[in-house]
Order: sequence, then structure tokens, then C-alpha cells
Amino acid sequence: MTDEAKKLGIFLGPAAQSRFSLFYDEFQVWNAKMNLTAVDAGPSFVIRHFIDSLQVLPLIPQEAKRLLDLGTGGGFPGIPLKISRDDLCLTLLDSSRKKTSFLRQVVLGLGLSDTRVITGRAEEEVREGRGGGEFDVVVSRAAFKMAQILELGVHFVTAGGLIIAMKGRDVTEELEKAQTVIHRFHLRLVERRETILPRSGGERTLLVYKKNRLRF
Ligand code: SAH
Repeated sequence: MTDEAKKLGIFLGPAAQSRFSLFYDEFQVWNAKMNLTAVDAGPSFVIRHFIDSLQVLPLIPQEAKRLLDLGTGGGFPGIPLKISRDDLCLTLLDSSRKKTSFLRQVVLGLGLSDTRVITGRAEEEVREGRGGGEFDVVVSRAAFKMAQILELGVHFVTAGGLIIAMKGRDVTEELEKAQTVIHRFHLRLVERRETILPRSGGERTLLVYKKNRLRF
């Protein structure tokens, strides 16, 4: 795990390593009971969840602190990001109570500072006006279509903040459908990165959009 992280330019110190190990153990215990993810234990789990999540870290500016993970499920990518960058102020949002119960346990067990877990539907938070403009970065993996991520993200992110979508190989169709939202909110694509996960060969497209500093 540390070697794979190093290839991404991420150095994991002893504290981070022991937190990853605790997270892994906790995940396996809960997964056996409640099927948090279909991916088995072992190296493929570490790559497909921990390393995949960490691919986002180089895209988060050093000065960005407040991070929201939309539809975080079992805590991906939010928890690995927080373990690797302890200065982040993390909010994990998911509509599934069983998943957020697990996450609350993880936050306590790992002793993660500045980490908040919210049970709720993202659209509902938006409708109620909660969390508006509070975050420097909004990230999401495997929970929403591109258009939705951007539409939701634009509510939560501060002016000048980033919305990072972790997508699969082919995003063409989803991007076409997102054009209206992109134009409506004047979102600017600042980075598009195609990656291949080691060993598993999983292909990813990472898309980073910036919310304009002007208000709409
Ligand atoms: N990001 C995680 C989980 C992906 S599964 C990962 O990549 O492993 C999708 C998650 O999104 C589920 O946990 C589901 O409960 C959550 N979800 C789906 N619709 C949602 C909504 N409208 N608001 C908040 N969470 C939602």
C-alpha cells in the first residue's frame, strides 16, 4: 500500500499507515454483516478503494481545507483522503443510515479530527439550503451522474472552489448531458486526468471543475 501511494507522490507516515490498517479491519468486520461493498478483502480491496481514493489527493490544492464527499458510502474517497491529509476538515454525506452508522464508528475508532458525518439525501440538503458555499472541494465517486454531481456540487462549493468527479473510462455521454449545467453555472474544466489503477487495471477519468468566482 505504501509503495503504491508513493507512486502517486504520497508519503504515508506511521500514523497514517496504522489508521489505514484500522480502517481496513473495521471495514471487513462491518462488511461481513452489512455488505458495504462487493469487492473482496485483500490486495484488490486496498487498490480499488484506498489507492483509487488517493488518486484524488494530488488534485486538491494545499490551501483547500474543507472537503465534502457526496454519496460517500463506506467512506470513499473521503476517509483515505483524510487519513493522508490530516489537516482536511472532512464532511461525509450519505443517505444510507447503515453506512453513516459505520462511518461514525470509523471516525471514533480512528480518532479522526474535524470530521463530520451527515445522514441525508444531497438534494434534500440543497433544498433546505444547508451547507451552501461551505466547502473548498466537493468530491464524489460512483454515486451520481456527471450532471448531478455538478448541480449539487455548485451549491456546496465556495466561489473559486473545486468539484471533483471520479468517473469510469467512458464519460462522453454523461458529459454531453452535463453541458447545460456546465454552461448555466459557468463551470470551467480545469483538469481532466485519465488513470489506470495498478494491478486491477481499473480505468478512471478524474474531472475537476472550478466554480467561477462571480456570483450567479
Ligand atoms: N462513494 C462510495 C459509495 C458509492 S455507492 C464509493 O465509491 O465506494 C453510492 C452511495 O451513494 C450509496 O452509499 C448511497 O447510499 C449514496 N447515495 C445515493 N443517492 C444519494 C443521494 N441522493 N444523497 C446522498 N447519498 C446518496
